[in-house]
Amino acid sequence: MKKIFILFLIINMLFLTSCVSKNEYTNNFFTMDTPMSITAYGKNAKEGVTKSISYINKLDGLFSKTLSQSEISLANSRDGSAYVFSETVSALISKSVEYSKATDGAFDITLGTLTNLWDTKAENPKIPSEKEINEALENTGYQNLVPNGTYVLFKSPLKLDMGGVVKGYACDGVYKILSDYDIKSAIVNLGGNIYVKGEKPDGTLWNVGIKDPRNDDQNAIIGYISVKDTSIVTSGDYQRYFIKDGIRYHHIIDPKTGYPSESDLMSVTIICPSSTMADAYSTAVFIMGREKGTEFLEKNNIDYILITKSKEVIVSENLKSSFTFEGKEKGYIYEK
Ligand code: AMP
Ligand code: MG
Repeated sequence: MKKIFILFLIINMLFLTSCVSKNEYTNNFFTMDTPMSITAYGKNAKEGVTKSISYINKLDGLFSKTLSQSEISLANSRDGSAYVFSETVSALISKSVEYSKATDGAFDITLGTLTNLWDTKAENPKIPSEKEINEALENTGYQNLVPNGTYVLFKSPLKLDMGGVVKGYACDGVYKILSDYDIKSAIVNLGGNIYVKGEKPDGTLWNVGIKDPRNDDQNAIIGYISVKDTSIVTSGDYQRYFIKDGIRYHHIIDPKTGYPSESDLMSVTIICPSSTMADAYSTAVFIMGREKGTEFLEKNNIDYILITKSKEVIVSENLKSSFTFEGKEKGYIYEK
C-alpha cells in the first residue's frame, strides 16, 4: 500500500512539473545592442513573449541611434530646426524633458554629439580632445529642445540619444502586452532593466541579484532583493567602459562637463513600478552622486540601492527588509 502511495506521489509530482514547464516560456534574444530575455508563465506565455519581442524590435527601429532609418537617426540628420515625430517618439521625448527638469539637467537626451565622441563600444575607443568636447557641449542642453505635440523644435544643432531611457520604456510596454495576454507571472530582463510581473508561479517573491560592479562575471552579485510586481533598473560604470592609463571611461556622461561622470558611485539601482522613470533616474542619480542623489530619491519617495566607490552599499529604509546582503567577503560594507 505504502509503495503504491509513493508511486502515486511520484506520478503526481511528474505531472505537476510537466504542467509548470509546459506553461513556462523563455526567449533569449538580442536587440537594442543588448542581450535580453523574457520568461513568462501561463497558457498564453509563448504568444505574449513573441508579441513583446516584436514590440521591442519595433521600438529599436524608432529610437536607435545607430540604425540609419530610425526616427531618431533621421531627426539627428535633419536639415532644418524642427522635426515632426510619431506620437510614440514625441511622447518619450516630452517625458525625457520632464525628467531633465526634475533632475536639474543630470538626465539629458540631447547628449548625442557627446556620446558619439565617447564611443565606448568602438574596437579602439579613444579619448576625445578637449576642443572636441567643448564644441560638442555647445550643441547639447535639454533647454534647446522644445516639444510641442509631435512637432519638436531644436534651438541648436543638437543630436538625440535615447539610450538612457528607452529600455525602461520598453519594459513598461512589455508589461502591458503581457497583461493583455493575461500573463500574471513573468520576469523581463532587457539588458539590466528588469521587470518582475506579479509573484513567481509558486506564489513566492522574485529574488533579483544586484550585480557586483567590480567583477566581470555576469553572475557575481553583492546581494539580492526579494520583490514582486516592480521594476528594478541599474546604471553603472561597469556596463560599458574602457580603461586607458588606469582610468575608467564609462558611458554615463555628465552633461555639465562632457566627460564620463566622476561621481562617488559605481552603481545605482532604482526600484519602482515605472521602469521608464527608474531608467531615467538611475542614470541621473549616478551623475548626482550619493549625497544629492539620495536627497533627490528620498524627496520623491523612490526606493534605491547605491554602491559607492568606497564599496559602501546604501539601501533605502523601505527596502531594507527585502534586501539580503552577500558582499562582505568581496569587501563591500553594508550597515543595516
Ligand atoms: P543607462 O545605462 O540607462 O544609465 O544609460 C546610459 C546610456 O544613456 C548611455 O549609453 C548613453 O546612450 C545615454 N546617456 C549617457 N549619459 C546620459 C545622460 N547624462 N542623460 C541621459 N542619457 C545619457
Ligand atoms: Mg537609464
